[in-house]
Amino acid sequence: MTETDRFTKERERMVEFQIRTRGIRGERVLAAMRKVPRHLFVPEGLEQSSYEDRPLPIGEEQTISQPYIVAVMTENLELRPESRVLEIGAGSGYQAALLAELAGSVTSVERIESLADRARENLARAGITSVRIVIGDGTEGYPPGAPYDAIIITAASPAVPQPLIDQLAEGGRLVAPIGPRDCQDLVKLVKREGRVATTSLGGVCFVPLIGVFGWSGEGL
Ligand code: SAM
Repeated sequence: MTETDRFTKERERMVEFQIRTRGIRGERVLAAMRKVPRHLFVPEGLEQSSYEDRPLPIGEEQTISQPYIVAVMTENLELRPESRVLEIGAGSGYQAALLAELAGSVTSVERIESLADRARENLARAGITSVRIVIGDGTEGYPPGAPYDAIIITAASPAVPQPLIDQLAEGGRLVAPIGPRDCQDLVKLVKREGRVATTSLGGVCFVPLIGVFGWSGEGL
């Protein structure tokens, strides 16, 4: 069996036993997770761990999130082929690759330049050319592409940054880990008639969102 075949089998097992059996039923999300080669988004030397049920380090004290949490967040964005999506925290580019499989346009903001460069490389290796990676403070959103049908924040914030709520379209969904620095509540916001309704999706532990409308970078 070639290494590619072996990774394909591991990915199928990941989707079946870590994702589908835990309750993720959206066929488009499951298909995207079966398709995107997660091993191309982890640092050299960690490929053999790519399909394990846990986050992995990607350098700069940041992580590629656990596959199941990626699935929960992606499913709750309720993406359609024409959706315009904004991700805050490109990291490895893996989440952005999934978004690109499911939506019409994807912009991902990353504050650490070296990670943004690597995310672009990873996406290119995976053959995904449609994602726009922007370097900057994602707590301020990305006004040139607004409004967005879906926004995903993949780092933890003390509260949902107001600019992101402002940049969400009517009927739009925002998914984010909100709460203290160590562990948080994963929340889903839906915007209707200018107001947001919030539901909880459960407990998670994410690295901090650092920026004007997030945590300060001091003491990290
Ligand atoms: N979505 C990523 C993936 O698929 O690999 C994982 C993201 S990692 C858990 C969180 C990322 O958020 C880190 O890369 C970190 O540098 C980034 N980040 C933190 N604060 C940010 C901010 N204000 N704007 C943009 N990115 C930020």
